[in-house]
Amino acid sequence: MTDRLTIAIQKSGRLSKESMALLNACGVKFSVNEARLIAHSTSHPIDLLRVRDDDIPGLVMDGVVDLGLVGENVLEEVRLERIATDSVAAYQPLRGLEFGQCRLSLAVPRESQYQSLQDLDGLRVATTYPQLLKRYLKDNGVNARTVMLTGSVEVAPRAGLAEAICDLVSTGATLEANGLVEKDVIFRSQAQLIQRADSLSEEKQAMIDQLLPRIDGVQMARE
Ligand code: ATP
Ligand code: ZN
Repeated sequence: MTDRLTIAIQKSGRLSKESMALLNACGVKFSVNEARLIAHSTSHPIDLLRVRDDDIPGLVMDGVVDLGLVGENVLEEVRLERIATDSVAAYQPLRGLEFGQCRLSLAVPRESQYQSLQDLDGLRVATTYPQLLKRYLKDNGVNARTVMLTGSVEVAPRAGLAEAICDLVSTGATLEANGLVEKDVIFRSQAQLIQRADSLSEEKQAMIDQLLPRIDGVQMARE
């Protein structure tokens, strides 16, 4: 039996289309059955594992899959969370993928008196990225409370749950629509290709070594 290379990608969301398109452009062909977790490549001994983006860093760090394509925001959040809980947090960064660009930003209601980061002292900030937020607040000596929400972060101030938010922004339209103003960028992100930290079989590593120059070629052609 051949040793199949496993790659985790986001099942459905902002990274899915471009993750599939990149692999396809590298000559790795798939036919995806939407209902299935695993898609077998028809051109290579490669399996795609289609999961929530939040699960991708952990799958790579635990060595359950060989490669993962995931946003650096999620990757760094999971890494910090794992370090905080003494879990394995190692991985090998391979390539920045030049898609999925966004920023994690602090925003406050339009009518807020906010002038500088220090004004958040004693206030509550709602976010899906508590680790990234806490690191930023700590680095800047601000004592704000973090309110963890997995969704609808932008409605937290109106709902009376927090005085500020820390959320992903790409165009700013969602903030605007919710009466929020972006004040500070705390993390810039794009999708990244990562590999598990331990060494792979020769066959698998050879496939990755063949894939990387193709990715570089695809990116060069796009510039
Ligand atoms: P899943 O169901 O896989 O958990 P999700 O709802 O958490 O999906 P998406 O909204 O699909 O995630 O976003 C996936 C990633 O896309 C983000 O973590 C981020 O890296 C990137 N991204 C790019 N632009 C944006 C944006 N404007 N808002 C949110 N994420 C963005
Ligand atoms: Zn997610």
